[in-house]
Amino acid sequence: MSESKRLLDTAARLIPGGVNSPVRAFRAVGGQPPFIARAEGARVWDVDGRSFVDFVGSWGPLVLGHAAGPVVAAIVDAAGRGTSYGAPTAGEVEMAEAVTAAFPSIEMVRLVSSGTEAAMSAIRVARGATGRDLLLKFDGCYHGHADSLLVKAGSGGATFGIPDSAGVPAALAALTLTAPFNDLDAVRDLFRARGGDIAAVIVEPVAGNMGVVPPAPGFLEGLREVTQAHGAVLIFDEVITGFRVAYGGAQERYGVQADLTCLGKIIGGGLPVGAYGGRRRLMERVAPLGPVYQAGTLSGNPLAVAAGLATLRALARDGAYDRLEALGARLERGLVDAAARAGVPATVNRVGSMLTGFFCDGPVRDYAGARRADTGRYARFFQAMLARGIALAPSQFEAAFVSLAHTEADLDLAIGAAAEAMAEAR
Ligand SMILES: *Cc1c(COP(=O)(O)O)cnc(C)c1O
Repeated sequence: MSESKRLLDTAARLIPGGVNSPVRAFRAVGGQPPFIARAEGARVWDVDGRSFVDFVGSWGPLVLGHAAGPVVAAIVDAAGRGTSYGAPTAGEVEMAEAVTAAFPSIEMVRLVSSGTEAAMSAIRVARGATGRDLLLKFDGCYHGHADSLLVKAGSGGATFGIPDSAGVPAALAALTLTAPFNDLDAVRDLFRARGGDIAAVIVEPVAGNMGVVPPAPGFLEGLREVTQAHGAVLIFDEVITGFRVAYGGAQERYGVQADLTCLGKIIGGGLPVGAYGGRRRLMERVAPLGPVYQAGTLSGNPLAVAAGLATLRALARDGAYDRLEALGARLERGLVDAAARAGVPATVNRVGSMLTGFFCDGPVRDYAGARRADTGRYARFFQAMLARGIALAPSQFEAAFVSLAHTEADLDLAIGAAAEAMAEAR
């Protein structure tokens, strides 16, 4: 029996599904997850000594690759000076300066410990500032697992959300309206009907959690305009896209400014972090300045801040985003060619270094479109890739992430494997 199998058997008795976050359990693709022993650069090794070129990148944070020298050095250095004080530190000031410099719409920022916390807190600020209760989110966008956000579209013409998880009160889900991503008309209709009650619109400016779906031209601009017209807060959840699709995130790439922004993943350099921030008039509502309460024992943790700052410093260097763009484009081209040669219907959506190959004809511009993808074929493709030493996300509806540690040779290896795997998964 493999060591991964032995560990999974034990884990399954002690941890729900044997994992500490559900998608790691491989339920969408079958088979068993390799247990990871170590990682370096673009590669991970499992406890059985197998190695994989990794496109999961811890689900987004590892834009420099695994165990990047400056990040590890920063963590070791910080740890030697103590792991947490529950008191302010210079590093938090430096992080606030870096974030506000990168995002002109962020005038004040608060660090938390996860993207979930960031989104949950940003919504609380929006509700506190507007005195309104309704929230508008988009079908297929993910903003962490807070109650108000685990909501899916109601059936038929219903716009009120229904709980997408047991344990979420229907009364709470009813405060969340939903619309299809990229559907500005639906958003305008909701505002026409309920505009005076909507506190905020929250959106992934590039969707990453239904697979990658870029914003249609005018979509983000339209959200900016309609929220402004109705006095609602526009929240960009840039937990994935912040420092990923450009140094200044989707807001820099698309030239649209949010009122509040959620960050996470990359700004923690692989340690647990989140942040929310935005306009001063909104952030001044947060305790202790204002009446919106939010706190955290480990918020602004010195190790996480050190890892994040080391990551941002590396990304601020000339050419980092040109390099990510070139690598992403090479992988996209390779996958498109491989699918064409295998005669497999596929649509590759990419923004910079995040991409998804959907096994369906294009275009894929919202969750309904993404769900047309052949998930059975993805599962076969995923297993065939894993067998060839390429680790993709174990679900069709996730992004593949390219890092600065990937080389052209790594990508070509993945593209070669994909050509075989697509033929095998046909
Ligand atoms: C990952 C993610 C979150 C949640 O972050 P956690 O750190 O897992 O809580 C929120 N929003 C988006 C867009 C994400 O991709």
